[in-house]
Amino acid sequence: MIRLTLVLAYLLAAVAAPAQESPATAKVVSVEPLAPNVKRLRVRLPKNYKFEAGQFALLTVPSSFVEGWNAKYKTKLGTVRRPYSFASSPKRLPVAEFIIQLAAPPPGRDVPPGIASTYIHGELKPGDTIEIGQPLGSMNKAGESGARPLVLVAGGTGVAPFVGLLDHWFRTKQHKGRKIYLFFGARQRRDLLLDTQFRRWAAKHSNFTYVPGLSDPALDDNWTGPTGFINVVLDRHFSGTLDADLLIAGSPRMLQETVKVAKAKGVPEAQIRHDPIKVVP
Ligand SMILES: Cc1cc2nc3c(=O)[nH]c(=O)nc-3n(C[C@H](O)[C@H](O)[C@H](O)COP(=O)(O)OP(=O)(O)OC[C@H]3O[C@@H](n4cnc5c(N)ncnc54)[C@H](O)[C@@H]3O)c2cc1C
Repeated sequence: MIRLTLVLAYLLAAVAAPAQESPATAKVVSVEPLAPNVKRLRVRLPKNYKFEAGQFALLTVPSSFVEGWNAKYKTKLGTVRRPYSFASSPKRLPVAEFIIQLAAPPPGRDVPPGIASTYIHGELKPGDTIEIGQPLGSMNKAGESGARPLVLVAGGTGVAPFVGLLDHWFRTKQHKGRKIYLFFGARQRRDLLLDTQFRRWAAKHSNFTYVPGLSDPALDDNWTGPTGFINVVLDRHFSGTLDADLLIAGSPRMLQETVKVAKAKGVPEAQIRHDPIKVVP
Protein backbone atom coordinates (compact mmCIF):
# COMPACT_ATOMS: atom_id res chain seq x y z
CA MET A 1 0.00 0.00 0.00
CA ILE A 2 2.80 2.42 0.99
CA ARG A 3 4.65 1.50 -2.19
CA LEU A 4 1.53 2.14 -4.29
CA THR A 5 0.98 5.53 -2.63
CA LEU A 6 4.59 6.49 -3.31
CA VAL A 7 4.43 5.41 -6.94
CA LEU A 8 1.22 7.40 -7.43
CA ALA A 9 2.74 10.42 -5.75
CA TYR A 10 5.69 10.31 -8.13
CA LEU A 11 3.55 9.81 -11.19
CA LEU A 12 1.62 12.91 -10.16
CA ALA A 13 4.83 14.80 -9.62
CA ALA A 14 4.96 15.96 -13.22
CA VAL A 15 4.00 19.59 -13.50
CA ALA A 16 3.19 21.75 -16.43
CA ALA A 17 5.46 24.75 -16.60
CA PRO A 18 3.38 27.92 -16.38
CA ALA A 19 3.05 29.74 -19.69
CA GLN A 20 6.54 31.04 -20.20
CA GLU A 21 7.10 34.74 -20.38
CA SER A 22 9.42 35.26 -23.30
CA PRO A 23 12.66 33.42 -22.60
CA ALA A 24 15.87 35.33 -22.08
CA THR A 25 18.74 35.09 -24.52
CA ALA A 26 21.89 34.11 -22.67
CA LYS A 27 25.42 34.20 -24.04
CA VAL A 28 27.59 31.13 -23.49
CA VAL A 29 30.74 31.93 -21.51
CA SER A 30 32.16 28.40 -21.29
CA VAL A 31 31.32 24.71 -21.52
CA GLU A 32 33.81 22.62 -19.56
CA PRO A 33 34.05 18.98 -18.48
CA LEU A 34 33.45 18.27 -14.76
CA ALA A 35 33.27 14.45 -14.73
CA PRO A 36 32.80 11.71 -17.35
CA ASN A 37 29.78 12.76 -19.45
CA VAL A 38 29.10 15.79 -17.25
CA LYS A 39 29.76 19.39 -18.29
CA ARG A 40 29.39 22.75 -16.63
CA LEU A 41 27.71 25.37 -18.79
CA ARG A 42 28.41 28.96 -17.78
CA VAL A 43 26.25 31.69 -19.34
CA ARG A 44 25.81 35.45 -19.11
CA LEU A 45 22.15 36.42 -18.70
CA PRO A 46 20.51 39.75 -19.50
CA LYS A 47 20.73 42.29 -16.65
CA ASN A 48 17.03 42.05 -15.74
CA TYR A 49 17.01 38.23 -15.37
CA LYS A 50 16.57 37.12 -11.76
CA PHE A 51 16.25 33.70 -10.10
CA GLU A 52 16.38 32.31 -6.58
CA ALA A 53 18.96 29.79 -5.44
CA GLY A 54 17.92 26.19 -6.13
CA GLN A 55 15.48 27.03 -8.94
CA PHE A 56 15.54 25.61 -12.46
CA ALA A 57 14.69 26.89 -15.94
CA LEU A 58 13.80 25.49 -19.34
CA LEU A 59 16.59 25.65 -21.92
CA THR A 60 15.52 25.60 -25.57
CA VAL A 61 17.30 23.60 -28.25
CA PRO A 62 17.52 25.68 -31.45
CA SER A 63 15.07 24.59 -34.14
CA SER A 64 17.88 24.17 -36.70
CA PHE A 65 19.49 21.52 -34.47
CA VAL A 66 16.11 19.80 -33.94
CA GLU A 67 15.51 19.70 -37.71
CA GLY A 68 18.93 18.08 -38.28
CA TRP A 69 18.18 15.62 -35.46
CA ASN A 70 14.79 14.69 -36.96
CA ALA A 71 16.46 14.03 -40.31
CA LYS A 72 19.29 11.98 -38.76
CA TYR A 73 17.20 9.85 -36.39
CA LYS A 74 13.86 9.88 -38.23
CA THR A 75 12.16 11.52 -35.25
CA LYS A 76 9.39 14.11 -35.37
CA LEU A 77 10.34 16.44 -32.54
CA GLY A 78 8.88 19.93 -32.42
CA THR A 79 10.08 22.58 -29.98
CA VAL A 80 12.51 20.99 -27.52
CA ARG A 81 12.82 22.53 -24.03
CA ARG A 82 14.36 20.80 -21.02
CA PRO A 83 14.58 21.83 -17.36
CA TYR A 84 18.04 22.36 -15.82
CA SER A 85 18.81 23.57 -12.30
CA PHE A 86 20.84 26.68 -11.65
CA ALA A 87 24.10 25.46 -10.08
CA SER A 88 25.27 28.86 -8.88
CA SER A 89 24.15 31.59 -6.51
CA PRO A 90 22.02 34.43 -7.90
CA LYS A 91 24.60 36.67 -6.23
CA ARG A 92 26.81 35.86 -9.22
CA LEU A 93 24.34 37.18 -11.78
CA PRO A 94 24.52 38.08 -14.62
CA VAL A 95 26.64 34.91 -14.76
CA ALA A 96 24.87 31.62 -14.04
CA GLU A 97 25.96 28.00 -14.21
CA PHE A 98 24.32 24.68 -15.02
CA ILE A 99 25.67 21.15 -14.57
CA ILE A 100 24.51 18.90 -17.36
CA GLN A 101 24.87 15.17 -17.89
CA LEU A 102 24.91 13.69 -21.38
CA ALA A 103 21.87 11.39 -21.56
CA ALA A 104 23.18 8.18 -23.17
CA PRO A 105 20.75 5.69 -24.73
CA PRO A 106 19.44 3.18 -22.18
CA PRO A 107 21.63 0.01 -22.14
CA GLY A 108 20.74 -2.42 -24.88
CA ARG A 109 18.35 0.00 -26.64
CA ASP A 110 19.06 1.09 -30.21
CA VAL A 111 17.65 4.59 -29.74
CA PRO A 112 19.13 8.08 -30.10
CA PRO A 113 20.92 9.74 -27.20
CA GLY A 114 19.23 12.64 -25.40
CA ILE A 115 18.77 15.59 -27.74
CA ALA A 116 19.17 18.58 -25.40
CA SER A 117 22.16 17.19 -23.54
CA THR A 118 23.79 16.16 -26.86
CA TYR A 119 23.29 19.69 -28.14
CA ILE A 120 24.78 21.27 -25.00
CA HIS A 121 27.72 18.83 -24.81
CA GLY A 122 28.52 18.67 -28.50
CA GLU A 123 27.47 21.93 -30.12
CA LEU A 124 27.43 24.84 -27.68
CA LYS A 125 30.59 26.90 -27.54
CA PRO A 126 31.65 30.23 -26.03
CA GLY A 127 29.99 33.15 -27.82
CA ASP A 128 26.88 31.16 -28.84
CA THR A 129 23.48 32.14 -27.48
CA ILE A 130 20.85 29.95 -25.82
CA GLU A 131 17.24 30.67 -24.84
CA ILE A 132 16.55 30.29 -21.10
CA GLY A 133 13.00 30.44 -19.73
CA GLN A 134 11.91 32.20 -16.56
CA PRO A 135 12.93 30.47 -13.29
CA LEU A 136 10.71 27.75 -11.86
CA GLY A 137 10.62 25.61 -8.72
CA SER A 138 10.73 26.29 -5.03
CA MET A 139 13.58 24.22 -3.64
CA ASN A 140 14.79 27.44 -2.00
CA LYS A 141 11.67 27.57 0.18
CA ALA A 142 12.61 24.39 2.05
CA GLY A 143 13.22 25.05 5.71
CA GLU A 144 13.57 28.78 5.08
CA SER A 145 13.16 29.48 8.73
CA GLY A 146 13.66 27.30 11.77
CA ALA A 147 16.61 25.65 13.35
CA ARG A 148 16.32 22.05 12.22
CA PRO A 149 19.28 20.60 10.33
CA LEU A 150 19.08 20.96 6.55
CA VAL A 151 19.81 17.64 4.91
CA LEU A 152 20.49 17.71 1.17
CA VAL A 153 20.53 14.34 -0.59
CA ALA A 154 21.74 14.15 -4.19
CA GLY A 155 22.32 11.45 -6.76
CA GLY A 156 24.63 12.29 -9.69
CA THR A 157 23.85 15.59 -11.42
CA GLY A 158 20.96 15.93 -8.97
CA VAL A 159 23.61 17.74 -6.97
CA ALA A 160 23.26 20.79 -9.30
CA PRO A 161 20.58 22.73 -7.34
CA PHE A 162 22.48 22.04 -4.11
CA VAL A 163 25.66 23.52 -5.56
CA GLY A 164 23.58 26.65 -6.18
CA LEU A 165 21.96 26.61 -2.73
CA LEU A 166 25.22 25.96 -0.85
CA ASP A 167 27.06 28.58 -2.88
CA HIS A 168 24.28 31.03 -1.99
CA TRP A 169 23.97 30.12 1.70
CA PHE A 170 27.72 30.39 2.26
CA ARG A 171 28.00 33.71 0.37
CA THR A 172 25.07 35.28 2.22
CA LYS A 173 25.72 33.58 5.59
CA GLN A 174 22.13 32.31 5.48
CA HIS A 175 21.54 29.34 7.85
CA LYS A 176 24.86 30.10 9.54
CA GLY A 177 23.58 28.74 12.84
CA ARG A 178 22.12 25.54 11.37
CA LYS A 179 23.67 22.21 10.63
CA ILE A 180 23.80 21.52 6.90
CA TYR A 181 24.55 18.09 5.43
CA LEU A 182 25.21 17.15 1.84
CA PHE A 183 24.85 13.44 1.05
CA PHE A 184 26.17 12.97 -2.48
CA GLY A 185 25.85 9.61 -4.21
CA ALA A 186 27.88 8.65 -7.27
CA ARG A 187 29.08 5.41 -8.79
CA GLN A 188 32.83 5.87 -8.65
CA ARG A 189 35.24 8.50 -7.37
CA ARG A 190 35.60 10.07 -10.83
CA ASP A 191 31.83 10.71 -10.83
CA LEU A 192 31.98 12.77 -7.62
CA LEU A 193 31.90 16.07 -9.46
CA LEU A 194 33.03 19.11 -7.49
CA ASP A 195 34.29 16.82 -4.70
CA THR A 196 37.19 19.19 -4.02
CA GLN A 197 34.83 22.15 -3.78
CA PHE A 198 32.57 20.33 -1.28
CA ARG A 199 35.58 19.29 0.82
CA ARG A 200 36.82 22.89 0.80
CA TRP A 201 33.42 24.14 1.97
CA ALA A 202 33.34 21.50 4.71
CA ALA A 203 36.80 22.59 5.92
CA LYS A 204 35.76 26.25 5.91
CA HIS A 205 32.23 26.07 7.37
CA SER A 206 32.03 24.17 10.65
CA ASN A 207 28.22 23.79 10.33
CA PHE A 208 28.58 21.92 6.99
CA THR A 209 29.11 18.16 6.75
CA TYR A 210 29.84 16.53 3.39
CA VAL A 211 29.10 12.80 3.08
CA PRO A 212 30.00 11.37 -0.34
CA GLY A 213 29.00 7.77 -0.98
CA LEU A 214 30.01 5.45 -3.83
CA SER A 215 27.73 2.67 -5.07
CA ASP A 216 30.38 0.84 -7.10
CA PRO A 217 33.88 2.13 -6.28
CA ALA A 218 36.69 1.16 -8.68
CA LEU A 219 39.59 -0.84 -7.23
CA ASP A 220 42.01 2.01 -7.77
CA ASP A 221 39.60 4.47 -6.10
CA ASN A 222 41.07 3.25 -2.80
CA TRP A 223 37.75 4.35 -1.33
CA THR A 224 37.45 4.17 2.44
CA GLY A 225 34.27 6.29 2.68
CA PRO A 226 30.67 5.06 2.79
CA THR A 227 29.52 2.65 0.08
CA GLY A 228 26.07 1.78 -1.27
CA PHE A 229 23.27 3.84 -2.75
CA ILE A 230 22.95 7.24 -1.13
CA ASN A 231 19.63 6.43 0.55
CA VAL A 232 21.40 3.55 2.30
CA VAL A 233 24.30 5.83 3.28
CA LEU A 234 21.76 8.33 4.69
CA ASP A 235 19.97 5.59 6.60
CA ARG A 236 23.21 4.36 8.19
CA HIS A 237 24.44 7.86 9.02
CA PHE A 238 21.49 8.84 11.21
CA SER A 239 20.60 6.02 13.53
CA GLY A 240 17.18 6.38 15.13
CA THR A 241 14.78 9.21 14.36
CA LEU A 242 15.64 12.33 12.41
CA ASP A 243 14.12 15.79 12.72
CA ALA A 244 15.38 17.71 9.73
CA ASP A 245 14.34 19.60 6.62
CA LEU A 246 15.17 17.28 3.75
CA LEU A 247 15.84 18.33 0.15
CA ILE A 248 16.26 15.58 -2.40
CA ALA A 249 17.38 15.66 -6.05
CA GLY A 250 18.20 12.77 -8.34
CA SER A 251 16.53 10.04 -10.39
CA PRO A 252 12.87 9.15 -9.66
CA ARG A 253 14.04 5.85 -8.13
CA MET A 254 16.57 7.57 -5.89
CA LEU A 255 13.91 10.10 -4.81
CA GLN A 256 11.46 7.34 -3.98
CA GLU A 257 13.98 5.33 -1.94
CA THR A 258 15.23 8.40 -0.07
CA VAL A 259 11.70 9.52 0.83
CA LYS A 260 11.10 6.02 2.23
CA VAL A 261 14.19 6.28 4.44
CA ALA A 262 13.21 9.77 5.62
CA LYS A 263 9.67 8.73 6.48
CA ALA A 264 10.90 5.63 8.32
CA LYS A 265 13.03 7.98 10.44
CA GLY A 266 9.97 10.05 11.28
CA VAL A 267 10.60 13.06 8.99
CA PRO A 268 7.12 14.53 8.32
CA GLU A 269 6.08 14.89 4.68
CA ALA A 270 5.91 18.69 5.08
CA GLN A 271 9.66 18.74 5.79
CA ILE A 272 10.58 16.84 2.60
CA ARG A 273 11.02 18.75 -0.64
CA HIS A 274 12.08 17.93 -4.19
CA ASP A 275 11.51 19.33 -7.68
CA PRO A 276 8.86 17.77 -9.93
CA ILE A 277 10.25 14.70 -11.67
CA LYS A 278 8.97 15.92 -15.02
CA VAL A 279 8.24 19.38 -16.31
CA VAL A 280 5.98 19.51 -19.32
CA PRO A 281 6.86 22.68 -21.24
C1 LIG B 1 13.19 19.88 -12.36
C2 LIG B 1 14.29 19.20 -13.16
C3 LIG B 1 15.59 19.67 -13.08
C4 LIG B 1 16.61 19.05 -13.81
N1 LIG B 1 17.90 19.50 -13.68
C5 LIG B 1 18.89 18.86 -14.34
C6 LIG B 1 20.25 19.29 -14.18
O1 LIG B 1 20.55 20.24 -13.44
N2 LIG B 1 21.21 18.60 -14.87
C7 LIG B 1 20.91 17.55 -15.71
O2 LIG B 1 21.83 16.98 -16.31
N3 LIG B 1 19.63 17.14 -15.88
C8 LIG B 1 18.62 17.78 -15.25
N4 LIG B 1 17.33 17.39 -15.44
C9 LIG B 1 17.04 16.39 -16.53
C10 LIG B 1 16.92 17.14 -17.88
O3 LIG B 1 15.82 18.02 -17.85
C11 LIG B 1 16.71 16.22 -19.10
O4 LIG B 1 15.65 15.35 -18.84
C12 LIG B 1 17.95 15.42 -19.46
O5 LIG B 1 19.06 16.27 -19.71
C13 LIG B 1 17.69 14.57 -20.73
O6 LIG B 1 17.26 15.43 -21.74
P1 LIG B 1 17.67 15.14 -23.27
O7 LIG B 1 16.87 16.04 -24.14
O8 LIG B 1 19.16 15.15 -23.40
O9 LIG B 1 17.19 13.65 -23.43
P2 LIG B 1 15.84 13.15 -24.17
O10 LIG B 1 15.91 13.42 -25.62
O11 LIG B 1 14.67 13.67 -23.41
O12 LIG B 1 15.99 11.58 -23.95
C14 LIG B 1 15.96 11.03 -22.66
C15 LIG B 1 16.44 9.59 -22.74
O13 LIG B 1 15.59 8.84 -23.58
C16 LIG B 1 16.38 8.07 -24.49
N5 LIG B 1 15.58 7.87 -25.73
C17 LIG B 1 15.59 8.60 -26.86
N6 LIG B 1 14.70 8.08 -27.76
C18 LIG B 1 14.14 7.01 -27.17
C19 LIG B 1 13.18 6.03 -27.59
N7 LIG B 1 12.62 6.08 -28.80
N8 LIG B 1 12.87 5.06 -26.71
C20 LIG B 1 13.41 5.01 -25.46
N9 LIG B 1 14.34 5.88 -25.03
C21 LIG B 1 14.69 6.87 -25.86
C22 LIG B 1 17.62 8.87 -24.70
O14 LIG B 1 18.71 8.05 -25.13
C23 LIG B 1 17.84 9.42 -23.30
O15 LIG B 1 18.53 8.47 -22.51
C24 LIG B 1 16.30 17.96 -14.69
C25 LIG B 1 14.98 17.50 -14.77
C26 LIG B 1 13.98 18.10 -14.01
C27 LIG B 1 12.58 17.56 -14.11
